[in-house]
Amino acid sequence: MSEIRHTRVLIIGSGPAGYTAAVYASRAMLNPILVQGLEPGGQLTTTTEVENWPGDTHVMGPDLMVRMEAHARAMGAEIIQDIITKLDLSNRPFTAQSDSGTVYTADTVILATGARAKWLGLASEEKFKGFGVSACATCDGFFYRGADIVVVGGGNTAVEEALFLTNFASKVTLIHRRDTLRAEKIMQDRLFKHPKVSVLWHHEIEEVVGADNPPGVEAVRARDVRSGAITEIPARGVFIAIGHAPASDLVKDQLELHHGGYVKVKSGSTETSIPGVFAAGDLTDHVYRQAVTSAGMGCMAALDAEEFLAAQEAQGATNALAPAAAE
Ligand code: FAD
Ligand code: NAP
Repeated sequence: MSEIRHTRVLIIGSGPAGYTAAVYASRAMLNPILVQGLEPGGQLTTTTEVENWPGDTHVMGPDLMVRMEAHARAMGAEIIQDIITKLDLSNRPFTAQSDSGTVYTADTVILATGARAKWLGLASEEKFKGFGVSACATCDGFFYRGADIVVVGGGNTAVEEALFLTNFASKVTLIHRRDTLRAEKIMQDRLFKHPKVSVLWHHEIEEVVGADNPPGVEAVRARDVRSGAITEIPARGVFIAIGHAPASDLVKDQLELHHGGYVKVKSGSTETSIPGVFAAGDLTDHVYRQAVTSAGMGCMAALDAEEFLAAQEAQGATNALAPAAAE
């Protein structure tokens, strides 16, 4: 039989938003339960150095997330390694089913499920995922020592991944579909100065080419978006770094979404379209998508949940008094 656990605050997700919400909800004596999901620590565990977390000039992403988890635990949050597979927001208490079989019932839910890597959507990309095609340089870069590598994208992630991969690769080619990068100027500067990096502007990958047996990438065919001309670039590794999409599958049919799947929250708050359900971090944010903004929203979500619970309790107390007053 599955175990049923009740909590006043269920936090789903263990990135900066989830852990910060856990710190604040614990300090409000709400005894939150946080379910970590498939990626404990979230997206920052897939990167190396973080240079814009206030208070740390340099901190390794995975180390920062270990510290955040320890902080949340020290404040009293219960942190559980599990995945929420189904969430029912139609009645209070809300119900969440998990991969392990435990069912959580919750007076409030804080959604902090963040975002997941986007893919190009090519059949050849799918075919070689895990055999030369990756979306995580920190996870897989080591396998490409001395190899030629291609990185696709023009944002901070692509530039960071390209620079990180120079630690292993003999050559890194960054392929971007336009002629300007979105990445921060300081990162662009490092990229353009790096002797192992070249940039192929105005190109998109048309096909990942490789061997079947054993499976492995050998090259990419890139198309000039202006002329249609094809260039074949030898590469053993192809890193797709074209951004992330919000992880809103659990709630996509229950909550109001906008901007292609981000959970919509009330301006200046973390309230979603269902009272008692709050959302924070990259799941709600198509603009900033930073660790520090996610943490800030995690704080707001816990404070919003606390206020909601207090209002519910005050309402409950008033209702309880009403019949007595009538007698
Ligand atoms: P995420 O970090 O995305 O965490 C989401 C969490 O939700 C994960 O723990 C996941 O396991 C969990 N989850 C998802 N679905 C479920 C489920 N069904 N059940 C339970 N749990 C679930 N930002 C910076 O400020 N500085 C940087 O230097 C920086 N570098 C980056 C480098 C890379 C390679 C990437 C990809 C991003 C980087 N970012 C950086 C952006 C930053 O990582 C994100 O803005 C931030 O992690 C978002 O935090 P979050 O808490 O909203 O979600
Ligand atoms: P992003 O900023 O959305 O950039 C995605 C890039 O991929 C864009 O250059 C885009 O091209 C390109 N792209 C998108 N779809 C494509 C497709 N189908 N084919 C080819 N190219 C495609 O995503 P991100 O770089 O992952 O960054 C996400 C967020 O995390 C940002 O807010 C970023 O600042 C943050 N982040 C911060 C740091 C840091 O602070 N050091 C590090 C990593 C990430 P166009 O430019 O043409 O649209």
